[in-house]
Amino acid sequence: NDYAPATTRYNEMRYNHCGTSGLKLPAISLGFWHNFGDITPYEQMKSLVFTAFDHGITHFDLANNYGPEPGAAEKSAGRLIHQYFAKHRDELIVSTKAGYEMWAGPYGDGGSRKYLISSLDQSLERLGLDYVDIFYHHRPDNETPLEETMGALAQIVASGKALYVGLSNYDGERLAKASAILDELHVPFVINQNKYNILDRTVERNGLKDTAKKLGKGLITFCPLEQGLLTDRYLNGIPADSRVAHDPRFLHEDSVERVHNKIVALNDIAYQRGQTLAEMSLAWLLRDDTVTSVLAGASKPQQILDNIGALKNTTFSDDELAAIDKIALG
Ligand code: NDP
Repeated sequence: NDYAPATTRYNEMRYNHCGTSGLKLPAISLGFWHNFGDITPYEQMKSLVFTAFDHGITHFDLANNYGPEPGAAEKSAGRLIHQYFAKHRDELIVSTKAGYEMWAGPYGDGGSRKYLISSLDQSLERLGLDYVDIFYHHRPDNETPLEETMGALAQIVASGKALYVGLSNYDGERLAKASAILDELHVPFVINQNKYNILDRTVERNGLKDTAKKLGKGLITFCPLEQGLLTDRYLNGIPADSRVAHDPRFLHEDSVERVHNKIVALNDIAYQRGQTLAEMSLAWLLRDDTVTSVLAGASKPQQILDNIGALKNTTFSDDELAAIDKIALG
């Protein structure tokens, strides 16, 4: 173990409560969806997590299926935590999820009690941990009664395998129903994880954001940079080391073409504010007190540092907000 975390690590980060709960998350969290699977060198992963933790990013977000191949990101995280963070486990918030297809057959997908409980056991095994801090149901499942899924979350907390629970990709109406059941079962449900960024306003339209606020629940926003589109990465073509070029499982060249004009125009506004487009995109989310944390990914340590730079200015004038809306929604 040749890693000693920076003693200054808590100096610059902002920490926000998950809604009305006691749990605080860093304003910027690190996602393990990309760059922690089989196609990324371990040295690169090490530099990402060291940079994050050295600058106050205490939250690592995983899911059973993150890879490639599925499960690989949890294995990498387990190895990193075991090797370098064993003494710092109590300074870390590790989350994982189940809800998308993870193994063959009827029990490796959805929202059944069978799937959630066995999947978390598998995740803990890969992570080499006794518990995760937050366990999420990863997406709603119309074929399973909410009572069953929420009951599984209750049992998971009661068994000590997760400290808190979260819901991901739910809408406002389903969130309200699920939350009422979790309250009845006295489950510490503290956070919603949903996609939200300048270009994707779904949570404003489907009631999720308003309901989370009303219920006193947190909101951690995934793909805050629209997988890298809301940065300076694709302003002038497609760099060879970008996600589109090297890992296009979920992001393609035509996604870039579709939004290119918008990115160029948004980049001008960021420039006038003295920010990079990545900084402005994260700041735009963090200006809103409903947003607990922005869950960004990174392929390079420098990106993490740039993203933390967003905290220097999270205030927007009405004119700036209107100009951003005009470009993004136009
Ligand atoms: P982002 O929108 O933050 O995109 C991250 C990518 O943008 C990086 O990998 C990098 O791409 C590029 N980037 C990041 N910072 C900068 C910067 N400062 N300047 C230039 N480029 C930058 O998020 P992700 O799509 O990675 O998702 C984040 C996390 O959200 C996931 O890891 C996961 O934890 C969670 N998630 C949850 C889902 C759910 O259903 N609950 C679904 C999807 C994600 P490049 O490789 O091109 O350098």
